[in-house]
Parts: sequence; structure tokens; C-alpha cells
Amino acid sequence: MARILVAGGSLGGLFAANILLREGHEVVVLEKATESLDGRGAGIVTHKALEQALLRAGARVDETLGVRVEGRVQLQPDGSAGFTMPMPQVLTSWSRLYQILHEVLPPQNYVQGANVRSVQQDASSVTVHCEDGRSFSGDLLVASDGIRSAVRAQYAPEIQPEYAGYVAWRGVCDEYLLSNYTLSSVFESFGFGLPPGEQLIGYPVAGNGNSTLRGRRRYNFVWYRPAPEPDGLNALLTDADGNFYALGIPPHKVAWRNVAAMREAGRHLLAPQFAEILEKTAQPFLQPIYDVYSTQLAFGRVVLMGDAAFVARPHPGMGVTKAGLDGGAIADAIRRHGATPAASLAYEAERLQAGQFLVQHARKLGAYMQSQAGSSRGTVARSDESVVRQTAVDPAEMAA
Ligand SMILES: Cc1cc2nc3c(=O)[nH]c(=O)nc-3n(C[C@H](O)[C@H](O)[C@H](O)COP(=O)(O)OP(=O)(O)OC[C@H]3O[C@@H](n4cnc5c(N)ncnc54)[C@H](O)[C@@H]3O)c2cc1C
Repeated sequence: MARILVAGGSLGGLFAANILLREGHEVVVLEKATESLDGRGAGIVTHKALEQALLRAGARVDETLGVRVEGRVQLQPDGSAGFTMPMPQVLTSWSRLYQILHEVLPPQNYVQGANVRSVQQDASSVTVHCEDGRSFSGDLLVASDGIRSAVRAQYAPEIQPEYAGYVAWRGVCDEYLLSNYTLSSVFESFGFGLPPGEQLIGYPVAGNGNSTLRGRRRYNFVWYRPAPEPDGLNALLTDADGNFYALGIPPHKVAWRNVAAMREAGRHLLAPQFAEILEKTAQPFLQPIYDVYSTQLAFGRVVLMGDAAFVARPHPGMGVTKAGLDGGAIADAIRRHGATPAASLAYEAERLQAGQFLVQHARKLGAYMQSQAGSSRGTVARSDESVVRQTAVDPAEMAA
């Protein structure tokens, strides 16, 4: 049995911790947040590989995982259906996954308020130093501390998030607020709105208390819109009082004028069903889209996983699934090599190319929007049909 430290207690960290715990290791998760993590109700698409990773983490996978849709529909600007196809899929939410993974981890394994600042290692152990002066030692450190990973900054400072040129407006709208027209034409489906240079996807997710009952669900949307650097992006990251949030604007700070402009654009560019959803979503928020492309994941007794290792644009909907697979690969490597630098290298050999492939694949799925918008950053032409077919699909399943 080894003692494994996990920096970051979000979905990636919880996957790794639960899988390692079930392999018989002692695990300490160090999470900097002092309060319960907030998923903002954001939707997450699931894949077979995600369900398998959840099972490996000791989580229960049943009909309460999310809402099942049977197919996809692209809505034309006039509200009529364009391309449609059957594609059963279960749609869940960040908070539901967090709940499922958090409840199977014993509380004594999860330390909150532990902000990892630096890491030291020698021939036999690794020690993590936190901002408040606490230190934790173990045999291996799994860094799952997200896109701005402090651990990655120490070991590979040259790996930086690269802005993709567009943002995602996101939100969830209560089902009971919507018109029968919208409920009957799109609510039960994975919906697409594809104005030139932009992309909106939407799907039903559980509502309050993770209820999947009819009338209590919500419709989750993600609307990708260009926001050129620096002015377009900076304006969106600035609140109504002029404060600028370079690392991401908190949902409640998004300027009301930007929300109003987004809704106004929706009325002109999108099907009326989507315009209604945007109008009736209480607190839309936005996230700039980044790529993080690592060339190394193993640093002695330290490994990077999840968003700390790679951030792929969300088009394949694979970030959480990848984190689950990373956690499993770390456990497999430790089983073969013990919690040693050799295990770190074995994990890197297993997951480096997979992560690099996913970032490149997601770039390709997103680049067509930029070429439609006339940007030199994208040159890939894609039909509406291929967007509907390939979005939120595990590339491994696509190839099979
Ligand atoms: C618009 C959008 C849509 C998406 N849709 C999907 C989807 O449909 N399906 C999907 O699978 N994925 C999706 N993703 C991606 C997915 O959300 C992420 O890949 C996944 O949540 C990453 O989890 P993580 O645990 O690696 O990182 P994070 O969730 O970022 O967690 C990092 C954790 O580390 C903590 N932390 C940070 N620094 C420190 C420190 N110094 N010390 C201690 N703790 C620290 C943070 O507080 C946080 O809890 C989407 C992303 C976006 C932006």
C-alpha cells in the first residue's frame, strides 16, 4: 500500500482518489476551496467510458445519473428542424457527478482549504507545501489542480493555456418556464443551432435536487461565440462596475449589458426556441475556451492529470471522461511499478498521446467556426450534418 497525495478535489481529483483508494492505497486529497464546490448546474455529456470510470471509482451508475435523450435535432433560424438523427445519450451535470464521486470518498480523505503552493521531492518521497504552512508527504503526487495548475507551473512553466478565440455562454433554463412549442420541438433532444461562425448546443439535464421528473428538469445550453483578443474578450471579462477578471469572470459578475447583448443576438441568429431558452435563463455565464497541450506528464514522483495535464475544447465533451481514464491509468501504473517514478513514466506512456490527440481533435471540431467567421485561424470546412454527428461523441467510439 502506498500513500498518494492528490492536489485538487474536483472531478478529476475525486476520480483518482476513489480509484486509488479502491486499489488499497492511502489517499489524501488537497483541495484549496474552503466551501463546497459549485458546479453552477452546468451540463456534462456522458459516454460509455465515463460510466466505466465511475464504476471503477466505486460510484453507483443507474438511471439517476442523468436525463436520456433519443436523438439530435438541428434547428433552423425559423425554428423548423434541419438535420435530425437518432443518437441515444445520457446527459448529466457537473454537480451530479461531483455528488456521486464525493459521497463515495470517506470525508477523512478530503482536506479542504489546502492551497498547494510548492512541491519538493527526493529519492523516496514527495512533500507538498500549502499556503497556510501545512505540509503533506507521500510516495506520489497526482496533480489534478485544473487548467491553471500550480504544480504544472512549477514543473513545466512553459505549458500555458492558449486562448481559442471564442467563449462559451452557458446556462440552464427551468423546463416549467418554457412554451409548449419549445418543449415539443427541442426540449427532449440534443439540439443544435448553427449560425455562421458560431455554434449552440443544448440538452435536458436534471433540475433542482437532481430531479429528472418531467416538469422539473432544465435545458442546458452552451453557445460558442467569437470574442477576439484583446478587446472583445476583455469586454466580456469586465463586470458592470469596470472590474476586470483576467482568469475568468464569476457567473454573478457577468455584466448585464453583455447578457442583454447576447440575448439580443440570439433573437436574430438562432431559432426562436433557443432565443426563448436564453431569455428565460436566470443567470447565463461565460467561459473563454482554451487549449492546454502538455508534452510531459511525469516529473519524478509527480504526475499531471485531468485539466492540469490537457484542456481540450469542449466539443467532444470528453474532459471529465479523460480525467476518469487518467485516474485509472495512474492506478494501473502503480499496480505494476509501485508508487515510484517508474509508475509516473508508465502512466505518461499510457496517457500522453491520448491527451495530445484529444486536444488536436477538439481543435479540429472547433476550427470550422473560425473559418466560417473569416478568421485565418481556421481552415476546416464542415457541414451542419458533420457537426451534429461528431459533437459530444467519444472519438474512440466514433472510430469503432
Ligand atoms: C463550456 C464547457 C463545457 C464542457 N462540457 C463538458 C462535457 O460536456 N463533458 C465533459 O466531460 N467535460 C466538459 N467540460 C470539461 C470539464 O468540465 C473539465 O475537463 C473537467 O471538469 C476537469 O476537471 P478537473 O478536476 O481536471 O479540473 P477542475 O474542475 O478545474 O478542478 C481543479 C480543482 O483543483 C483545485 N485547485 C486549483 N488549484 C489548487 C491548488 N493550488 N491547490 C489545491 N487545489 C487546487 C480547484 O479548486 C478545483 O477544485 C466542459 C468545459 C467547458 C469550459
